[in-house]
Amino acid sequence: PYAAIGMEINVGYITAVAVDLAGERLLSWRRSFDSAEPAGQGVATVAAVVRRVVNRMAKQERQVLGLSVAVPGLVDTAGSVRFAPNLGWRDADLSGDLAKALRDPGFTIQVDNDANLAALAEQRFGAHSGASDLIYLTGEIGVGAGIILDGRLRRGRLGFSGEIGHVQLDPDGPECHCGRRGCLEVMAGLGAVLGRDPSPAEIQVEIEESVRLARAGDPATLATLESVGRSLGQGVSILANLLNPEVVILGGYYVPLTPWLLPAVQDEMADRVIAAEAGGCQVVASTLGHDAAALGGAARVLDSIDSGRLPR
Ligand code: BGC
Ligand code: ZN
Repeated sequence: PYAAIGMEINVGYITAVAVDLAGERLLSWRRSFDSAEPAGQGVATVAAVVRRVVNRMAKQERQVLGLSVAVPGLVDTAGSVRFAPNLGWRDADLSGDLAKALRDPGFTIQVDNDANLAALAEQRFGAHSGASDLIYLTGEIGVGAGIILDGRLRRGRLGFSGEIGHVQLDPDGPECHCGRRGCLEVMAGLGAVLGRDPSPAEIQVEIEESVRLARAGDPATLATLESVGRSLGQGVSILANLLNPEVVILGGYYVPLTPWLLPAVQDEMADRVIAAEAGGCQVVASTLGHDAAALGGAARVLDSIDSGRLPR
């Protein structure tokens, strides 16, 4: 039997999943990752994770058909990471370096944007898999969109579509890791939820704390989530006006926060979306959990098999 592997590298963690040809999950795995590591060292860490997953598959007598790795940044159509603002990576040939580190592993290695892959996961495995026009919005330190229109992932000329996180909402807003100011991701990403740039190791715990405080009705937390929700609603309105999706799916750390973000998101949309009365678009939390991007990596491998680009 065969296996397809997907991975995600992000601020603070690496996730890996393996699925069989029917898309059934064979393994899910997560470890911490120090994104302050320069890209070179990061490759060794990622290669070690790949080896581990491949060995686990070998124990199940499964042959790995392909690996797709999600990164939080702009990946060109050749698979090079051009710029990952929150990892501080620039011009990294991750797939080439990984192939070298793994010494010709015998399967294809693709690299892709995290939001793009998460959108593919939603298309194949998500609660809205029937929608031919869906947008996945990552809720991490960074915010990015994976855009599926007319049933197809839309990458743009160089593969850089969906960078809604760096659309400027406030010229006087806080500084963004891309070097600009007031980008959507500094107004509505984790930094805005937590009030500062959290240390990667603390993110999970701090988000849980925010959820606890919101449940308890803590006024400061509720005010923060409302303001984040407003900025997020502005971003979602831009997507809705520009692309007319059926559904915008909030992923990552947005998922547990959705109940408190959604009212402000919907309020902003009612004001801003031009076709609001004609139906607008739904905004929902992802049901795929925090490994959506990794799962999307596996989905991309399965897509390559379906289209005959990999052996069955
Ligand atoms: C990056 C995007 C990425 C998003 C989510 C942004 O800072 O520019 O490419 O998809 O973060 O990780
Ligand atoms: Zn920015």
